[in-house]
Amino acid sequence: MSDKRTRLIIGLDDTDSREGMCTTYLCALIRDEISSFADTIAEPILVRLNPTIPYKTRGNASVALFVECDDPERVMDHVTEKVASMACLDNENTNPGIVFITDDRFEAVRDELSGFFRRAVKEVLTIYEAKELASVLGLRFEAFKNGRGLIGALSACGAMLNPDWDHTYEYLAYREKDAWGTPRSVDEASLFEADRQTYPDTWDTVDLANNMVVCVPHAGDPVLYGIRGKDRSSVENAASFVVSEPVERVCIYRTDQGTDMHLIPVSGIGDIKEMHSYILEGEVGSVPKTIRGGHTIFSLKDDQGQTIDCAAFEPTKNFRELIRELIPGDRVVVYGSVTERTVNIEKIKVLELAKKYEVSNPACPSCGKRMKSAGAGQGYRCRKCGTSSMETERSELKRAIGVGFYEVPPCARRHLAKQLIRFENEDLPVFPGR
Ligand code: ATP
Repeated sequence: MSDKRTRLIIGLDDTDSREGMCTTYLCALIRDEISSFADTIAEPILVRLNPTIPYKTRGNASVALFVECDDPERVMDHVTEKVASMACLDNENTNPGIVFITDDRFEAVRDELSGFFRRAVKEVLTIYEAKELASVLGLRFEAFKNGRGLIGALSACGAMLNPDWDHTYEYLAYREKDAWGTPRSVDEASLFEADRQTYPDTWDTVDLANNMVVCVPHAGDPVLYGIRGKDRSSVENAASFVVSEPVERVCIYRTDQGTDMHLIPVSGIGDIKEMHSYILEGEVGSVPKTIRGGHTIFSLKDDQGQTIDCAAFEPTKNFRELIRELIPGDRVVVYGSVTERTVNIEKIKVLELAKKYEVSNPACPSCGKRMKSAGAGQGYRCRKCGTSSMETERSELKRAIGVGFYEVPPCARRHLAKQLIRFENEDLPVFPGR
């Protein structure tokens, strides 16, 4: 053992399956277990990567710890042994990756890994690329099975090495082991109270419009609830209102949730690729239609005349009512991920509203009464005065929506989507979903 303390970054990913476990839990457990021989020296990081990745279990999260210790070998052995014993290795989609970076390598790898993190949030990367990078940079890593988790583990290390990105916080409370897989006991009223007391410094705890709790998951994993907010004290404050079953441990993560880091501004549909997420301006090209399953879809036309479908899917609930009010000619900016040539709308800016008209039979110039149809192709005639006209009358209708910035409600929020309450200095009226 050397007498110099070593600083060590540990990145972890892909340890869980839909049936159980959670990489954030494993990270919190490891942090607590190694606390007698490794001090945590920076906030643990939870980053959400490209939300369209099909291999994800739920929210495409990966995590990193930053510790200082006398004996890095002991820490690395402990982490590796813990992942080997606790990851859901029997599940075919679980391919854990661990990356260790000691402080003698920090400067040499910082830029590369920080760039890799930013790309992993926006693009689709390969396992080959991740293994190559780890090898070229001379990093110590563990790849279980096909090692896909290395993509996330390297990214989380990159996020830790260069924490210069917009961020929010999440307070994650974990269940006692005996309770895993059983229904969660969290007092709903206490969550609504936590929201009332701390919004807008915390968000997405509950969904008022749809009268739903949002922060309590339903799967068999160890998470009891997660409170999201702008800083540590706000999420801690909100959590202090929550009445629930016993909490085994807590971890407050610094995260890229609620930052829009996944979105790429583009000037036209020609630049769009599958499995990427965009900010795209255009004109509504078709009347929104609600199809089977309750999804509302319209076509967006860019300035080059290309079109793409934009969808407010059924889980976006009341947001669909807004989308149904759009008409051809409205100028909008859509924010969302593209899969199967469809933008899954997370937010929409309505920049300009087209004029909407009601068409009616013309009024008689003599008596003012509405004329009646004079028969197919023969225009209109006033029964009383005998006047006639070939023209229908158009009157402008008041639009049911206004220009502004709108978002899906909390119950449909994607992890990376930036909440409207986080936007500052917007020119348009902002309508946060709540
Ligand atoms: P949970 O939310 O429960 O922690 P998860 O949704 O994070 O689970 P993982 O089990 O981590 O899902 O699976 C996601 C996998 O996709 C990981 O192996 C990760 O390395 C990989 N991955 C993440 N981002 C990308 C990307 N941009 N390109 C390719 N693969 C990626």
